Amino acid sequence: MHRLCNISPYICCMSLLEDKTPNRTPLSNLGEFGLIQHISKNFELKNDTSIFGIGDDCAVIDAGHYFQLVTTDMLVEGIHFDLTYTPLKHLGYKAVVVNLSDIYAMNGLPKQITVSIAISNRFTLEAIEELYEGIGLACDAYNVDLVGGDTTSSTSGLCLSITAIGEVDKDKVVYRNGAKEHDLIVVSGDLGSAYLGLQLLNREKQVFESNPLMQPDLQNRDYVLQRQLKPEARKDIIDLFESKGLLPSSMIDVSDGLSSELLHLCVSSNVGCAVYEEKIPIDFMAISTADEFNLSATTCAMNGGEDYELLFTICQSYYDIIKDNPDLAIIGHITDEASGAVLVTKDENHQPLTAQGWNSLS
Ligand code: ADP
Ligand code: MG
Repeated sequence: MHRLCNISPYICCMSLLEDKTPNRTPLSNLGEFGLIQHISKNFELKNDTSIFGIGDDCAVIDAGHYFQLVTTDMLVEGIHFDLTYTPLKHLGYKAVVVNLSDIYAMNGLPKQITVSIAISNRFTLEAIEELYEGIGLACDAYNVDLVGGDTTSSTSGLCLSITAIGEVDKDKVVYRNGAKEHDLIVVSGDLGSAYLGLQLLNREKQVFESNPLMQPDLQNRDYVLQRQLKPEARKDIIDLFESKGLLPSSMIDVSDGLSSELLHLCVSSNVGCAVYEEKIPIDFMAISTADEFNLSATTCAMNGGEDYELLFTICQSYYDIIKDNPDLAIIGHITDEASGAVLVTKDENHQPLTAQGWNSLS
């Protein structure tokens, strides 16, 4: 991989840094999603095998008898993780899992990953071994093969970029854009815990920094900590779809918070939605941790992120198949586009959803 500034420092400086043209637009004006939209509008797919490009959890490529799924996620030290409280083994595991989650979100099965790392000389061989131990554990747990990657140096921090490749039957691929009016909205597992785990870890870090003799107070918080440090991707839900013959009309994984993901489904499908606060699944430990932090557990579920649960819509005829499944919660239904995307609160207020997902560009 080339680093742009090594090609010609002079050209690089002239074109990127010293261009005094007026009308420079700060990236914070667009945000992460706006920027992706801006980039994508200048690219059209040229190859027949490029079935779906930018705009879903994975790109979809025609591989003959099946579709191949491709997704990439990058984790950057200081932005996505803090090595003060993230063991490298957990980081490696999580970095793989967040990518596999995007493959499952298309109703596919992951098969291979590539791993690219940028590291500084502050890392030892043992540290990198620990990182790859976590990567290996995830590969074993989800039956995927590490088939390549890239290694380069970094002047600051660790950067980890993973690409996952998966497969799905052509008639079983599920996009974000298939939700229909009256469909049920379903989410797996529970939401908000990973965000609350992060709040706990940040608090204990601050306590430790002000007094290194203090012991961390993380007792009885295993679940929320595990959700933050060692999330799992919902392969079991894809297996359930297969065994029950259930095909969602749309699907996405919850990486940026329920609110933001619901908006993605609604915008992609040209529909609205009504989601009921009282139906949102939140673990009791998340509720008590939210109380401790004076936060609303619902807000953590709506806007926290990193849950890596699956959010999907199904035709009502599938209701009986899922109604008694303890891993699935029906949280609302799809409405027409004009009705917008709303959260019906416990006191019956209709609040428009806003995408307050994680925005690294602000
Ligand atoms: P997810 O949260 O599911 O990982 P993202 O929000 O990261 O999805 O990305 C949404 C879509 O935008 C995906 O199709 C992704 O491949 C695409 N995308 C993100 N960043 C870029 C980029 N810098 N250039 C081209 N496509 C991008
Ligand atoms: Mg996703």
